[in-house]
Amino acid sequence: MPNKAKIFRRIFLLIVLSAGFLFFQFTKKGKQNSAVQKSEQKIENVQSSPAVSSRVAEEATESTGTIPAAVPIFMYHYIRAYANSADPIGENLSVPPQKFEEHLKWLKENNYATVFPEYFKAPNLMTAKPIILTFDDGYQDAFDSAFPLLQKYQMSGMFYLIVNKIGTPGYLTWEEILTMQASGMVFGSHTLTHPDLRNLTPANLEKEIQESREILTQKLGQEITDFCYPSGKYTDAVTKEVKNANYQTAVTTNSGISSLKDDPLLLERLRITPKTDIATLFNR
Ligand SMILES: [Zn+2]
Repeated sequence: MPNKAKIFRRIFLLIVLSAGFLFFQFTKKGKQNSAVQKSEQKIENVQSSPAVSSRVAEEATESTGTIPAAVPIFMYHYIRAYANSADPIGENLSVPPQKFEEHLKWLKENNYATVFPEYFKAPNLMTAKPIILTFDDGYQDAFDSAFPLLQKYQMSGMFYLIVNKIGTPGYLTWEEILTMQASGMVFGSHTLTHPDLRNLTPANLEKEIQESREILTQKLGQEITDFCYPSGKYTDAVTKEVKNANYQTAVTTNSGISSLKDDPLLLERLRITPKTDIATLFNR
């Protein structure tokens, strides 16, 4: 019987070993399976959430880095030396040429580059410090004073024209406008007659906004896409008509610095007076 017992013991040992081996194999496979699942999850994570977060990072770089979030728009009217205590409004709208030159010099020294209101529709990645210089009403001194100084500092301006005033005393002529255009100056509509747009009949509102654009587009040989509300006055109906007329941007006289997220048909500006100190303005 000792042999039989020996055989039984061997069989028992064999069964225990086999069971142990099978158990070991089973748990090993289980661990392998869960490891595969984990790495698959990792791959999924790489394909979904990190892609979103890297896109957010790119956008953050765009809004805070390469593309400036906001662009200051300066508002000028006359560039002339003008002292008349009986006309304080006229005095306040007149920046002497020497003062204007100081502004351009400061902007140049501080690495600002002029862009146009279209920037709000299509930002230019290459311009680190953009600024828009606007001139309302199309006065004669835009050609005589502003234009040569802008050229001297290799800058450009956006001039809003009152179409029916063009060629009348005190205002730019078509010839001057075309000369300025050939040197990189840009023009927009400031209506036909500079009325308070809030008080017009729908037909007159359409005429002031649409017809001024059509005349300028035809005379300048290029699509006019920028508008300026006379005296900064508008209502929802006015803005709607500006949009219907296919303008891409419109400036107000509301004080502020518009960001790329703002409505491009309600852009805010910084009023520049003879007393404005540009360095103070920027440090404010
Ligand atoms: Zn005006």
